[in-house]
Amino acid sequence: MSGVDVTAVAKSYGATKVLTDITQSFESSSFTSLLGPSGSGKTTLLRIIAGFVAPDEGAVRIAGADVTGVPVHARNIGMVFQSYALFPHMSVAANVGFGLGRRGIRGKVAKAQVDEALEMVRLPGFGGRYPRQLSGGQQQRVALARAIVIRPDVLLLDEPLSALDRRLRQEMQVELLRIQRESGLTTIFVTHDQEEALTLSDKVAILDRGRIVQMGRPAEVYERPRTKFAAEFLGDANFLTGKIRGNTVEIAGATIATQDALPADGTSVTVAVRPEKIAIRPADSAGNDALENRLPATVSSVIYTGTALTYMLRTGDLHLKVFAQNSDGSPLAAGSAVVLSWAARHSVMVEG
Ligand code: ADP
Repeated sequence: MSGVDVTAVAKSYGATKVLTDITQSFESSSFTSLLGPSGSGKTTLLRIIAGFVAPDEGAVRIAGADVTGVPVHARNIGMVFQSYALFPHMSVAANVGFGLGRRGIRGKVAKAQVDEALEMVRLPGFGGRYPRQLSGGQQQRVALARAIVIRPDVLLLDEPLSALDRRLRQEMQVELLRIQRESGLTTIFVTHDQEEALTLSDKVAILDRGRIVQMGRPAEVYERPRTKFAAEFLGDANFLTGKIRGNTVEIAGATIATQDALPADGTSVTVAVRPEKIAIRPADSAGNDALENRLPATVSSVIYTGTALTYMLRTGDLHLKVFAQNSDGSPLAAGSAVVLSWAARHSVMVEG
C-alpha cells in the first residue's frame, strides 16, 4: 500500500523550473530518502507533500486521500526541521503536546501520549524541562517526539541531523531508524549526505535538477546507477566511453566486458566502474583469471589514508581511480606498471 503518492507534480518559481513531472509512490511504513545536491528540489518536494508549498500541477495523496488542496494543519503529518523549532518559553511536555491540544486531545489522555512519545525518543522524565536546558541532540529528540505524538500518516524530515556534530549525528541515525521501525511511520527524509541516505533508507530517490532520476533500494541504486549523475553523486565512479562491438564496449586500447544488454554495434556508450570493484596488481604478478576485464595501467599517484589506499592511474589518455585495502602495508609506488581487473557485472552502462 502507498503511504504517499505524488502524481505529475511540477513547480516553478518565476522562470525557474524547480520540479518537473514528479510521479512517485512512497510505500506505507517505509523509510525513503530524497537525496540530491543543493538546489535539486528536495525541500520543495517535501514541502509540497507537507502542504507548505502548492504545486503548479499534479496531485498529492496521503494514506489514500487526495490532499492537494488541503492546508498543512488539516493534513495529518509530522515534520522535523534542521532547526529544532521548539517553543523556547514552553516546557518539553507542552512542546510535545502542542499538536494534541490543537486536535482537542487534553488531560490524562494527552499526558499519556506525551509520556509515550518521550519514552519512544528515550527522554522519559524530561517533560518539565525547557528547551534551553537541553543539548542539541536532546532538542532534536523533542522535535521528533512532537512530530510522532499525533500519530501522523507521514513523517517528513528535512535534514534533521545536519546541525549535529558527527558523533551525535551517527548516534541519532541509529535512534531515528529504531523510532521509525518501532512506530511503523511512513517516513520521507531529505538529505544531501549519500552515506546517511544509504545507511537509513529502505529506498533512496535520487534527484537531479528537479527530477527523480532513480529510486530503489540502497544496494540497487549504488550497484546499478542508471545515469552518470547517479553514479557520481552516490559514491565515486570511473567512466569509460567507447563504442559497442558485439557484446563488448571498445574503448581506446581495450575491450570492456559487461553483462548489461547493449544497443546496436557502433553506438557510443558510457560504462561506469566503481573504484572499489577494481583489483590492482603489479604487471609482473599472477592475477585472478575469473575476472573478465583486464586493463594495463600505470600508477600516477597513491593516497595513503591508513586503512585504505586510493590509486590514481592512467592508461593511454584515460585516467582511473582505484580504492584498495591497505592489506599488506606497502602501497605500489607511483610509476609502477600494474594490471587492473574487474568482473563484467561491475561494468554498468549509464546514460550521459
Ligand atoms: P534542495 O532542497 O534540493 O536544496 P530546494 O527545493 O530548496 O532544493 O530548491 C530548489 C530550487 O528552487 C533552488 O534553485 C531554489 O533557489 C529555488 N527555490 C526554492 N524555494 C524558493 C522560493 N520560495 N522562491 C524562489 N525560489 C525558490
